[in-house]
Amino acid sequence: MANIIKLLPDHVANQIAAGEVVQRPASVVKELLENAIDAEATSIKLIVKDAGKTLIQVIDNGKGMSDIDARLCFDRHATSKIQNADDLFNLHTKGFRGEALASIAAIAHVELKTKTEDAEIGTHLTIEGSKVISQEVAVVPKGTTLSVKNLFFNIPARRNFLKSNPVETRHIIDEFHRVSLAHPQVAFKMIHNGSDVFDLPVSNIRQRIVNIFGKKTDEKLVPVSEETEIVKVSGFVLKPEFAKKSRGEQFFFVNDRFIKSPYLNHAVVSAFEGLTKEGTYPGYFLFLEVPPQSIDINIHPTKTEIKFDDEHSIYAMLRATIKHSLGQFSVAPVLDFNKDSSFDTPYEYSKKTPVVPTIEVDRSFNPFKEGNSSKGAKVSYKKDNTTAWESLYVGLKDETSLVDQDTITGMQVESEEVTGHLFTEEKTHTGQVTFQIQNKYIVSSVKSGMMVIHQHLAHQRILYEELLKNMTVQEAISQQLLFPVEVSFSKPKVELLATVKEQLEHTGFVFSSWEEETLGISGIPAGVKESNVGIILEQMLNDLENEVPEAGFSQNDLLAKSLAKSMAIKTGTAMQKEEQEHLIHQLFACKEPSVSPDNRPVLVVLNANDLDKKFM
Ligand code: ADP
Ligand code: MG
Repeated sequence: MANIIKLLPDHVANQIAAGEVVQRPASVVKELLENAIDAEATSIKLIVKDAGKTLIQVIDNGKGMSDIDARLCFDRHATSKIQNADDLFNLHTKGFRGEALASIAAIAHVELKTKTEDAEIGTHLTIEGSKVISQEVAVVPKGTTLSVKNLFFNIPARRNFLKSNPVETRHIIDEFHRVSLAHPQVAFKMIHNGSDVFDLPVSNIRQRIVNIFGKKTDEKLVPVSEETEIVKVSGFVLKPEFAKKSRGEQFFFVNDRFIKSPYLNHAVVSAFEGLTKEGTYPGYFLFLEVPPQSIDINIHPTKTEIKFDDEHSIYAMLRATIKHSLGQFSVAPVLDFNKDSSFDTPYEYSKKTPVVPTIEVDRSFNPFKEGNSSKGAKVSYKKDNTTAWESLYVGLKDETSLVDQDTITGMQVESEEVTGHLFTEEKTHTGQVTFQIQNKYIVSSVKSGMMVIHQHLAHQRILYEELLKNMTVQEAISQQLLFPVEVSFSKPKVELLATVKEQLEHTGFVFSSWEEETLGISGIPAGVKESNVGIILEQMLNDLENEVPEAGFSQNDLLAKSLAKSMAIKTGTAMQKEEQEHLIHQLFACKEPSVSPDNRPVLVVLNANDLDKKFM
């Protein structure tokens, strides 16, 4: 038989390698930024267009390349960073595989301009799909500019597989965070579609964190610092009360390289034990320094995982150090059984005789009567074709009325009496029997037996359909706030928010001011509590970042799902009979009443036969 094995041509081998190195635009960003760091640049600029799908450009003022190196750097296994296998165990650079540029050049249009310190003129080289198109001399400043255009132009499957621009941008920003946090002594700038996203001057690490994540971060930071023979730890953890529902700000750096380590993460989380609410994740920026020969970075192709020689000791040390820091900055709850500060009386009141509070209950108060408004929130309707049931719903969902009522019952006024007046009989009585169990399920009788409805999921379904309608065909009514609420997010989050601003406005949000990190909100969707606005938007941003719209589903869908989830009546909320009935009516007006937006069942029906069996 004839021999059949052939060596793959270089450009094919490079394309295959690219599959490992370049998963998405953010991978290119990481490689280019790291190369600039390795070239000892003190100032690095990242320019991105269309989430990196059209252009990724990194401009550095590092040591540059000679014209020969400029050509060589695109060959596979071409690296200036290691010379033999032993060097692998004493790495002081980010790169060492010599694969990145070869891979990138195989799947994009690449342009390189570079000049070394002592060369008079530099080099300008273009290369497309591994093929050198031109190399010319060029007048350029010292340093390197690498532009990557039309990523995956020759691998359509890969290109089509890319996620939406907000998602890809998020990944790019993540990489940018990781590299710029590890190198505060380098100035960084990021520009996306022509506007500045980050402008980070040379600074210390604390300032770098604040410049990236916003001014308010400063007061949340607790310094961490410890040194032993095997590891030196420095950096910050976020105070426990700022732990988030998503793993946002969790960063480990080992010898200035960002790494992921579930094991060390566990050490940190366990140091926070008992201090954070369940389901929240503490934030941290931790820098570990270990002797280079005690780690192996080579176990993962994109190098975010590493192996430590003495992982257990590092775990124990990290945990103890963080506990110590949290204690030292007295962020652990201090329990003083002798004294409760809430009993302290301000001096000017200490001599006065207490006045018995009086309470007035307006028994004819009806929140559904036009003209009534709740605490600083005036309900206004953008559309005049609002039907009566909608206004009924607005009031029902407005939890401020429930809160008021709680206060009243707390004062031992019989709640029945109050509710009796809140809802006039003739308006709501439908003759159907419903009741709530465990503040979680609504039970209603149906012809064939009984139906149990999950209140939270049912409300999610209702809101989801309503929100989708608002975003696409009919703008929602908006609750105008007397005083705009201010919410603050980091710059990239505000950027992300901008991409869905219009949809949000359709659902009832009115933005009265829009700055880099702070937004003023003067209108919110009906039924949303003023105090929840920040949380709802935060949750939505997290969902937008983390959840990728399923194929065929739009961003609107994702947005509606997320908002519905955080706006829906929570499990554990007591509901009035009329609210229960109203929820059922609305649910059955939905297109798909039986499943939640996430495809969970909303209701179960127990028919008489099922019941009969129980009594046999
Ligand atoms: P690695 O970084 O693993 O060595 P790369 O493919 O990323 O592999 O880069 C190949 C070589 O090109 C590097 O070793 C370096 O010598 C050179 N190089 C790449 N980017 C730059 C840059 N921005 N400035 C100077 N030299 C660079
Ligand atoms: Mg590299």
